[in-house]
Amino acid sequence: MVAIAAHNIQMSFMSGTTETKVLKGIDLAIPSGQIRLMMGPSGSGKTTLLSILAGILTPSAGQVELLGQEITQLSRKQLTVFRRDHIGFIFQSFNLFPALTALENIELALQLKGKKGPGNQEIAFDLLKQVGLGDRVNNLPADLSGGQKQRVAIARALAGEPELIMADEPTAALDSSTGRDVIELMQYLAKNKGCTVLIITHDPRITDAADEITYLEDGLLASESSLVTGLH
Ligand code: ADP
Repeated sequence: MVAIAAHNIQMSFMSGTTETKVLKGIDLAIPSGQIRLMMGPSGSGKTTLLSILAGILTPSAGQVELLGQEITQLSRKQLTVFRRDHIGFIFQSFNLFPALTALENIELALQLKGKKGPGNQEIAFDLLKQVGLGDRVNNLPADLSGGQKQRVAIARALAGEPELIMADEPTAALDSSTGRDVIELMQYLAKNKGCTVLIITHDPRITDAADEITYLEDGLLASESSLVTGLH
């Protein structure tokens, strides 16, 4: 099954009277359970494409289907519900709730995803342990470093085991061993839970975790290379 499909995605931005075409016709098909990396030079359109695939930006033309649902047809409200129910996001801004501890931030995410019950605290604790924050669960975001906040945001995105994980530079602020732990967690979810993972990255340390790499160059796909890594 194809989990993430894009057909002829185009995107233009207007600045004053000048129109800049950022995406010039992108076709993508990412099978369920795959870890796909998206790489390419700065300014090539990666973040714009990810935002469109996540239903955060509406493309100038083209369609996006996630899990068989054409999201470009959904209303704003339907999109919000779809994202909450199916997608875990890791973006560069962390958006953690400042008044809640790391643990409470994850518990809240589980609640918002409809997970109720006494097991939530344990699930949240396990997730924080897996991103190396087992000893920081009661810290407020203000008492965490940038890399630690990023890890809370990653744990929050993975809470509830979403079918789709979309991440923009998830390992950029992390040291090698934490970056490796985060990728291993995503590999675990892909292999055992059928999660489909799409990651924008410049990080050469994680390319061996990919099933496939999509290269974007000046708003077009440069090439797709299949990797047989033996990891999946
Ligand atoms: P990448 O993630 O590959 O660095 P982006 O998708 O962030 O690339 O940006 C691609 C191009 O689109 C850049 O030239 C950027 O300036 C432009 N761009 C992105 N968002 C906007 C916007 N909201 N308005 C105008 N131009 C934008």
